Amino acid sequence: MDPFDSRNAERVNLPRNMIENSMFEEEPDVVDLAKDSTSFPLHLQIEMSGCLQSFPPLDPDDVVYEPRSSRLLVRGLGENDMDDEEEDCESSARLLGMSFMNRSSAQRVAASPFSRQSPSGSCSRPSARTMVVCVLLLVIVVAMSMVLYLLPECTFTKSGCPKQNKTSPPETVYPISSNGEVFPWAQLRLPQSIRPLSYSLTLNPDLDKMTFTGCTVITMFVRHNTKHVVLHGVNLNFTKATFKIGDGKATAVTVLEYKPKQQIAVKFTEELKAGQLCVLTLDYTADLSHSYDGFYNSSYTDKEGTKKVLAATQFEPLSARKAFPCFDEPSFKATFLIKISHKSDYMALSNMPKVKTIKLQNDLLLDEFEKTSVNMSTYLVAFIVANFTPISKNVSNTLLSVYSVPEKKEHTSYALEAASKLLDFYNNFFEIPYPLQKLDLVAIPDFLAGAMENWGLITFRETSLLVGSLSSALEKQLVASVVAHEVAHQWFGNLVTMSWWNDLWLNEGFATYMQYMSIQNVLPELDIENVFLDVRLRAMEKDALNSSHAVSTEVNTPEQVEEMFDSVSYEKGASILLMLKASLPGDQQFRKGIIQYLKQFSGLNTYTNDLWNSLTQVKLSTQHQNVTEMMSLWTSQKGFPLVTVSYKGDEVTLTQEHFLLTSDNATQSSSLWHIPVSYVNDSCSLAADCRQLFTLKTKSNTLKLPEKVKWLKLNYRNTGFYIVDYGKEGWSELCDALANNYQVLTSEDRTSLIHNIFALSRLRRVSFPQVHQLLKYLSNETETSPVTEALLQLNTIYRLLDKRYEHGLVARLKEYMLSLFGSLIRNQTWTEIESVSKQELRSALLETACQLHEESCIKQAKDIFKDYVDSNGTKRIPGDLQQVVFNVAAQSDDWATLLTLYGNASYDSEKRKMLKALSSTKDPQQIVWILQEGIRGHIVQTQELPLVIGTVCNGFAGFLFAWDFIQENWDRLIEKFPVGSFAIQRIVKSVTSQFSTKSHLDQVQSFFSSLKERGSNMRSVQEALETIKLNQRWMDSNLASLRKSL
Ligand SMILES: [Zn+2]
Repeated sequence: MDPFDSRNAERVNLPRNMIENSMFEEEPDVVDLAKDSTSFPLHLQIEMSGCLQSFPPLDPDDVVYEPRSSRLLVRGLGENDMDDEEEDCESSARLLGMSFMNRSSAQRVAASPFSRQSPSGSCSRPSARTMVVCVLLLVIVVAMSMVLYLLPECTFTKSGCPKQNKTSPPETVYPISSNGEVFPWAQLRLPQSIRPLSYSLTLNPDLDKMTFTGCTVITMFVRHNTKHVVLHGVNLNFTKATFKIGDGKATAVTVLEYKPKQQIAVKFTEELKAGQLCVLTLDYTADLSHSYDGFYNSSYTDKEGTKKVLAATQFEPLSARKAFPCFDEPSFKATFLIKISHKSDYMALSNMPKVKTIKLQNDLLLDEFEKTSVNMSTYLVAFIVANFTPISKNVSNTLLSVYSVPEKKEHTSYALEAASKLLDFYNNFFEIPYPLQKLDLVAIPDFLAGAMENWGLITFRETSLLVGSLSSALEKQLVASVVAHEVAHQWFGNLVTMSWWNDLWLNEGFATYMQYMSIQNVLPELDIENVFLDVRLRAMEKDALNSSHAVSTEVNTPEQVEEMFDSVSYEKGASILLMLKASLPGDQQFRKGIIQYLKQFSGLNTYTNDLWNSLTQVKLSTQHQNVTEMMSLWTSQKGFPLVTVSYKGDEVTLTQEHFLLTSDNATQSSSLWHIPVSYVNDSCSLAADCRQLFTLKTKSNTLKLPEKVKWLKLNYRNTGFYIVDYGKEGWSELCDALANNYQVLTSEDRTSLIHNIFALSRLRRVSFPQVHQLLKYLSNETETSPVTEALLQLNTIYRLLDKRYEHGLVARLKEYMLSLFGSLIRNQTWTEIESVSKQELRSALLETACQLHEESCIKQAKDIFKDYVDSNGTKRIPGDLQQVVFNVAAQSDDWATLLTLYGNASYDSEKRKMLKALSSTKDPQQIVWILQEGIRGHIVQTQELPLVIGTVCNGFAGFLFAWDFIQENWDRLIEKFPVGSFAIQRIVKSVTSQFSTKSHLDQVQSFFSSLKERGSNMRSVQEALETIKLNQRWMDSNLASLRKSL
């Protein structure tokens, strides 16, 4: 999945719901069932070879995993074999603060004064020592008696006192189904005793009534004897259910439902036996969903103004269960045969090509799709009923098509061309041909994410897929980038899938890495390197916080599954892959390792270490590297290192520590990484072969250079995921070098210096005057990345000061920015330019200039808007200038005109820029209107609400309105966007990240803690609180210095 706007939608993260943890099963870490169970045939072999026989008494259903202690508990045997009396003793000991109690009864008898056995001490042969012991014992007994007298009555009763913080006994408490019967399963993860082999789904959506009926036939294999089948299903009303074993007769069964965990179950009086095949058939009715997941309804208004409805699916991560009953976990792969009925003026699409159409009654047709030729996870199933039109072409042996609503057909050809190049590239790069006969890319009018990689049927937001012939290269860059991401998933995610959501990064980190790598190769004119560099720098912002999480992290609740869709899984995942690739000797080890991984695990599920092992196994050169040893530290620990470098002559000392932004000085971290530190120096700094490499594995190490250096620049081209502090002298040398000739470093290196110095200032390792000293060289800078990075950092400070009513400083900062970039701003033209990189530079510069009320910028923008309106929309504004022109229009008297244009716009990317501009208004009434309209969803689609809120928050006029708005409408927001989802993460971040005062901190804390299960445990809330405290601290320590230095 691509959670839209990878460049802007910063995704956020929080501590787990500890209360729920104990309820949920994890992968049993001893019996590795989940992984090897991914492939049914493999399992059959294992079973036949008897490998699993060593566990015969363990029905996996009876295995309960207790995360904290990592003990395997077996119901019936119990964790504590103590009897009640022993427990009483232990609890009393705890009451008395005695920690020496040992669980061994023998020791307990000897050592415990609480033993109910009669004391052995009848001093039969008294000696001085025994006398002393006896006296001591007597004293203890008397003391104990007094204590016991004073203890509460409950202490030694059979039931005991209420126990606190005690590991709960292993007794499983089964929940009650909605019909009042006991539900046979108590964990979040499904039991491993049954595996689905194939599904046959028949769906009959009624787009007039917004309902559907379904029939799901699941053929299953019994892996272990069991008395129940447990699977997922939610909001499905079952009308008929039958079950049959082997070739036996189907008998009616009762479906039990446990709504809180979205599970359903069928219980049997006799055990199903291991090795049996059985078939569960379920008929049901349901409503089409009104949110953006499950089988949901979407609509659009066509050119004639008629409202058209359609139905589409979005199942990742946990919503396949809303459309059909299924084993809705990524490791339960199976085949799917899908049939869908629809009216004759509609069409149906699914993962596989259509094989036949049958005429039904009432003008209905039933389309049957080929059975999937591959085993796949439920979250990748997809179907659509709509009246779309396609354009197609053949690429190798695949029919590639792009679908849209009919009037946008002419906006589909760029995506088709880009996808065909990318599909070819991946077929060759992975050395595994795309396995299906067709691949459809479909633009859906209502779609929350950027896109979703359903196998063979990728769905997109219209803005992520559709560009017209007049669209700018910058707009094409976005489309190509999302297409590249989703097509890469057809291998990473679809062919080889993570076993569980804790390793989501195996899907998303890889697809993100591949999207940039493939575009660089296939569409070099799109200058995608700038975007990838920016993505890597942004990923560090969240990962520097204490609330961040390891790339591969424990996931135990649905909310935590949603939260995995964040910048750590996507952008940090991609960043550490780039770092690994850059540190491997030669060009081929990385690629060969990936090919080996894909081939070895094709059709299966994997864990993070499977990838590292595959990469380690490839031996191409003598400098073989143990990838597992290095990379497991990057995926199992949160955060990233700060490398401090100091040098004297030819001797360089490197030290690492955790780059942890925390307002709480007591928080310590002892994390260490294996860091592939690269460096260049003053005598050779630009070409790739100037780069030297040193792996820093310890806290500190020293290396010898061949000769004395004037300066060193570490992290060549910023391919490593770490920040560098050069010390006062080191920074000063680098500043001088840049001031002399800024082209002495690559543009990536200059960008990384700018990013790093701002990050260090946030860590309070450098002062603002030091930042200032580095930025001086920028008046000569002409490349995109260093300028956009500096603008982003300065704009962040500008907005913080603005929201703190520091008007004097705001004015001075404005002056400073305009003078630093003045000549570059004046050099920008307002007509079409070709280069994507130059377009990026121009749009960033002019948006800043106009936002800072630079007069000539405002005038130009107004003139262009007037021309555009006068031409009745026939005149195009260059794509990269649209945002700045619309912003100026919306912030002056033309807001209403822009709103009318928004209603009629036919280019989706242009329309989105208009909406962003409308949301940047400074008029309170317009602000309130657009926020409310975003939630009503009539004129502004609700899918755009995160964008609207984010933009409103940036402005001085709107940030407090937005904060009120989300507090008042929280329940409506989480109805549309699930708790923990990237949309909610983005909203929380937008509304809180510019607060920097104690009173706002208190408000945010009190509001989110009042939400309880409606969001108070989200990682993004923890992140918001940390960020406000850090903002507050930054202000406290920098305001005075800003006043002096600006
Ligand atoms: Zn993705």
